[in-house]
Amino acid sequence: MAATPIECPGNTEAPGGSSQLSNYSDVGVEDRPVKLLVLDVEGTLFRTEVRLPGTSLDSTIWQGIAHALGPEAVREEVETHRHWEKGGYGSYLEWMKDTISIHIRHGLSYDLFHHLISSAQYNPGVVETLSQIDRTAYELLLISGGFRELAVRAQRDLKIPHAFAACEYLFGNNGSLEAYNLLPCDFEGKIDFIQLMLREYGLSSKDWVFVGDGSNDVPIARNAPISVGYRAHPDLKKVVMYAIDDFYELVDILKLSCDAQDG
Ligand SMILES: [Mg+2]
Repeated sequence: MAATPIECPGNTEAPGGSSQLSNYSDVGVEDRPVKLLVLDVEGTLFRTEVRLPGTSLDSTIWQGIAHALGPEAVREEVETHRHWEKGGYGSYLEWMKDTISIHIRHGLSYDLFHHLISSAQYNPGVVETLSQIDRTAYELLLISGGFRELAVRAQRDLKIPHAFAACEYLFGNNGSLEAYNLLPCDFEGKIDFIQLMLREYGLSSKDWVFVGDGSNDVPIARNAPISVGYRAHPDLKKVVMYAIDDFYELVDILKLSCDAQDG
């Protein structure tokens, strides 16, 4: 597909021409973007390869870890989903802590975890589409209920300056999981991080576009002025403004969003 930069009217004379990726670290108040492009990570940027039986939440890594740790870990992970559906957890943080205890119990190692991170595949068209976005028009922000380590891969590959991810693993010298960092960054929690970044960039509550795939993205999609469901879970499909199966379709949606802004 031809690489036509996605530009907002009035933002076509950015220094650096079409090589916008090199400018991402220079954003100042005067250069602030017109909008934030907020992207979910697992299932949206990266493929979901493992869907454990009887679960409805797509995840690239959480379920991939259970699958790699064996049948007993899978059984315990599926049990956490049952417990979630019955309202047994007070928060996403509680669910993560319970799930992490499964990983520790079944001996998740640094090597296995990083093998899963490094072998995750981008969805078709993701890298090509995001590489051509004019960063003076859209600043990219990743919001993930999954792992920071996976978000970091996309940050390196696509020069994305901001990412909030719910879980980060800290391994000891012997390769075992020693500690972790958790953020309340899923379901309603995602919205708080977006509001923080809108405020930081001096943007309004109308100045963002969201792209996600899962049922956990329903609250954020309901709040987004423009919401896009990529190969979306049926619950998400019901609430998004645009449902797409081809990531390239995002190009036209972002152009339309720019036109609306200009008009
Ligand atoms: Mg997702």
